[in-house]
Amino acid sequence: MKSLVTVDSINGEIVNCSLCERLVTYRLQVGKEKVRRYSNEIYWAKPVTGLGDINAELLIIGLAPAAHGANRTGRLFTGDQSGQWLMRALFETGFSNIPTSTSAKDGLILKNVFITSCIRCAPPSNKPLNTEKLNCSNYLVKELELLQNVKVVICLGLIAFQTYCRINNLKKLEFCHHANYKDNDKHLIASYHPSRQNTNTKRLTWPMWIKIFDDAKTILSNNN
Ligand code: SF4
Repeated sequence: MKSLVTVDSINGEIVNCSLCERLVTYRLQVGKEKVRRYSNEIYWAKPVTGLGDINAELLIIGLAPAAHGANRTGRLFTGDQSGQWLMRALFETGFSNIPTSTSAKDGLILKNVFITSCIRCAPPSNKPLNTEKLNCSNYLVKELELLQNVKVVICLGLIAFQTYCRINNLKKLEFCHHANYKDNDKHLIASYHPSRQNTNTKRLTWPMWIKIFDDAKTILSNNN
């Protein structure tokens, strides 16, 4: 029988999920307490879905919604510094129509890209527990089943990389920035996450970052 799973059905499951008690408490608490600079805003404070084109050839997997970024705006990589880095890189390499990502209504259109995360609720200190990683990876499994045209996967950070490898039974692959592996018809590229912690310390610089997207673009161009 044909599967009835669609992006909308997965997204519906995600936004209504309350499996991880600790994360539910945290995301609601952050949405209630807020921070001063966003004190006038109504936080999303729910799980955050993937975004972009489900027929895309480029898939980007991040860690989780940022407490005052996606947990506030309701859209991944929106309203925080990581989002600024990601959207500028996508714009500069032709994968989006604008170089910024400030709100869910900013007119952003992703081109040939789907962005998702391995955890859908903001975790305290960006550190999900193993049980939470396991719980939430079921949604990534479902998305991967729908993402049939993906040729390049960029994993942002170790947790995204490990989660993707576990789901796809890829063993003994080492995480380091700019590692590039071939898995059947897909290229897997590992990158440091563009978190403030990495960019402010120059662990991840702009040239290191943009190279990831230049490479993804080149691989896709050579494939088509
Ligand atoms: S992290 Fe994922 S599995 Fe856990 S409550 Fe949020 S959406 Fe559900």
